[in-house]
Amino acid sequence: MLVVQKYGGSSVGDLDRIRVVADRCARRRRAGDDLVVVVSAMAGQTDHLISMANELVTTSQSESDGQWISSARVGDNAHQRELSQLMSTGEKVSAALLSMALNEAGCPAASLVGHQLGLRTDRQFTNARITGIEQSQVRRELDKGRVVVCAGFQGLDPEGNITTLGRGGSDTSAVAMAVAIGADVCEILTDVDGVYTTDPRVVSDARKIPRICYEEMIELASLGTKVLQIRSVEFAMKYGVAVHVRSSLNTNEGTMIVPEDESMEKVVVRGVALDRSEAKVTVTNCPDVPGTVAKLFGVLGRAGVVVDMIIQNASRSRRTDVTFTVPRADLTSSVEQLSQIDFIADDAEVGVLSDPEISKISIVGVGMRSHTGVAARAFEALANEGINVQMVSTSEIKVSVVVAAKYGELALRALHDAFGLAEAPRGADGG
Ligand code: ADP
Ligand code: ASP
Ligand code: MG
Repeated sequence: MLVVQKYGGSSVGDLDRIRVVADRCARRRRAGDDLVVVVSAMAGQTDHLISMANELVTTSQSESDGQWISSARVGDNAHQRELSQLMSTGEKVSAALLSMALNEAGCPAASLVGHQLGLRTDRQFTNARITGIEQSQVRRELDKGRVVVCAGFQGLDPEGNITTLGRGGSDTSAVAMAVAIGADVCEILTDVDGVYTTDPRVVSDARKIPRICYEEMIELASLGTKVLQIRSVEFAMKYGVAVHVRSSLNTNEGTMIVPEDESMEKVVVRGVALDRSEAKVTVTNCPDVPGTVAKLFGVLGRAGVVVDMIIQNASRSRRTDVTFTVPRADLTSSVEQLSQIDFIADDAEVGVLSDPEISKISIVGVGMRSHTGVAARAFEALANEGINVQMVSTSEIKVSVVVAAKYGELALRALHDAFGLAEAPRGADGG
């Protein structure tokens, strides 16, 4: 078999763990599999590199300018180029160390970093998208019988600059590598046994999900479930790669991420996600005339702010409130941008309110397509806990609610219980 394995930051967090990973890889290799291993930076390294950069930059820029690094969306800024350059070093360190540990364990290995990987991206330095992989060097090393250890998270733009793939991007490096070399499976090895019905660190009776379809995993990842980067699952779905999320500390079967099959719609809710990273903005007393929301969201769009939930009420007095959520890191700059819009700056009746103290909780499952009353059940569970719902949004396979941040975890548990996710599964599949 040709296998791609990706080890996350905690799995390669110190030298002892790197030795454990090397042992595991060496055993797999000796059992006859060809192995390409993608590694993240050692736990905490990427944060440390970013905080050093922030310290340098915020001393020479105003505080709000300093936010460019945390929001990381300024495309062609010189700082973003250097930030990618800097962040990519974390993965280079762990790739070289793991390769050394493998050679030390008697298992021939070679690490590939930066330009050696052949991973091409667009020009968005710290949030780059993969455009292609030339896998010749990986192939050459495999043909020599070596384990190939690839530094995750990094690629090259068309000018040969180092780019990085966004936080958690080593997952996407691994899936892309699996596609490029035609691997039989892409294993994501992490510090949990698989994908759970919700974060097992927050809800102790969360259960491991044996099989989940790509669509559900994409929704969960985009709604705050950290275990996989969204783009990695989108890539896997597009190219039909089987992804196995499992623990790097044991050999238990984890979670298979697979195409949807008929049995999956029997389960109404597959998982529940909590997202604490958003903030709420309300523009009050907006004139209820054509062009109002176009101006609001046009300004934010041009500033690169990703707006999530949007609510606009019908007006009774030709004035209306518009409420929406933005990433919390972009809250200050969003309010600044909005305040400059003519109908906000010139009209004393219009106001901009912001609230960073919110949490978004989402229930996800392809079963929602064929079951009714799902939102009502969710609202009832929240009402029973005395939790006020501030905003709601739905799609075919999810319902999201915004509540006060202090109720976020309580709401998560209430919804997890209400849909029976803590109970033993009925079928072998949980479905
Ligand atoms: P890695 O460093 O291996 O990339 P991450 O920290 O990115 O690992 O992802 C693993 C973490 O994701 C777990 O430690 C867990 O707390 C968190 N997590 C959140 N939601 C879930 C979920 N539904 N199932 C499993 N893990 C989850
Ligand atoms: N080291 C990078 C991060 O912390 C990429 C990754 O771990 O996947 O975001
Ligand atoms: Mg991760």
